[in-house]
Amino acid sequence: MSATTASATSPGSFTERMDALDEATVRSLDRSHVFHSWSAQGLIDPLPIARAEGSYFWDYSGRRYLDFSSQLVNINIGYQHPKVVAAIQEQAARLTTIQPAFANDVRSEAARLIAEVAPDGLDRVFFTNGGAEANENAIRMARLHTGRHKVFATYRSYHGATAGSITLTGDPRRWPSEPGQPGIVHFWGPYTYRSAFHAEDDEQERDRALAHLRDTLMVEGPHTVAAIILETVVGTNGILVPPDGYLEGVRALCDEHGIMLIVDEVMAGFGRCGEWFAIDRWGVTPDLITFAKGVNSGYVPLGGVIISDPIAETFRERAYPGGLTYSGHPLACAAAVASITAFREEGIIDNARRLGEEVIGPRLREIAAKHPSVGDVRGLGVFWAVELVRDRDTREPLVPFNAAGDAAKPMAAFTAACKERGLWPFTHFNRTHVVPPCTTTPAEAEEGLAVLDEALAVADTFTT
Ligand code: PLP
Repeated sequence: MSATTASATSPGSFTERMDALDEATVRSLDRSHVFHSWSAQGLIDPLPIARAEGSYFWDYSGRRYLDFSSQLVNINIGYQHPKVVAAIQEQAARLTTIQPAFANDVRSEAARLIAEVAPDGLDRVFFTNGGAEANENAIRMARLHTGRHKVFATYRSYHGATAGSITLTGDPRRWPSEPGQPGIVHFWGPYTYRSAFHAEDDEQERDRALAHLRDTLMVEGPHTVAAIILETVVGTNGILVPPDGYLEGVRALCDEHGIMLIVDEVMAGFGRCGEWFAIDRWGVTPDLITFAKGVNSGYVPLGGVIISDPIAETFRERAYPGGLTYSGHPLACAAAVASITAFREEGIIDNARRLGEEVIGPRLREIAAKHPSVGDVRGLGVFWAVELVRDRDTREPLVPFNAAGDAAKPMAAFTAACKERGLWPFTHFNRTHVVPPCTTTPAEAEEGLAVLDEALAVADTFTT
């Protein structure tokens, strides 16, 4: 125990104790005792956050940031939504926790609401604490339901950091955890701007990506494949909106070979794409949907798998061999019930769709036309990517794939320019994503896009 911990154990109410921690203490306790994700612990300096509300958060110096990242693309309802906060407080007074083998009012109601917004034929919810566990359980269900072991996943994907989910993940975060789980096969999904198939337009990309998937299935033996898992719209790895017809084509291949289609809607779901689920846009019915993040904006951790009736039937007489102590935690479910209700009452899904169509999309296209560093703009709802390049003609990325240190400096300079101007961006490799809360107002979106426009002048200085 260090000397600084004394201030955290002084008498007083909980709020008084927390408010007594000044910025320097928060920072020093963090550096001494908190071990951060994905980081070299000695090279980071996490910013202490004092408070947050709506689309903004504040540091201890009073500097306000407009959040164009929704944290990790999870604060779909914005910060401190009063109805969600009240539901958590009220549920804490009613019943803080109860183990999953009991039936519980708020868990039942959350499951009902989630099934109600899911596509027809997906009526049951297995609750987890987050997205990685949701994907672990979805592939377990698919394997047991089909009696097969292989799972197909795309290279441009992130599915979580637990053993199975990091093996599903296509991006470089998988590498340190290899060899990972056996039986997971990666393939290329559609990405017209950087086509793996030398396609020149979306139709070619769709057809060639489907032919590639069909061929890969053929050589792997489709009768050995339990599931294909896809992010409906790829999130962190580029906001890749599939061309119309692609998901329908994947569904048809699954049907042809008795393969389960799992759509990972952890990031794309619950309003992010201007729909309850991104898959709604294409009218495709998957066998399993995984969710987390936007279901309750992470006010209390919650994720899960929405299960089709045939897969649920497999486990009617046969035990499902999986569980979690906190599955369907009442506080998390209370936040989900209040959040889904507020989404409905406040037209939050429509707001996200309109922001994309009327403000973010058109304004980003104008911005792209002005800046030589912008190679491509794509997205929908409040889910957009601006892809930065050194050269528009060659499409050379502004920083190399998986760049770190000096190689990543152009992106670091762009990020710093945003933050200096009060905008918190989401960046990944050579892209900045415009992923604000679904509750963002048009005026707030304009404010953030104006900052982005200014900061892109910094990116322009690195073009050739
Ligand atoms: N799937 C997708 C598409 C994600 O974006 C993420 C997290 O960013 C996950 C799964 C993992 O979710 P979690 O961090 O809650 O385990």
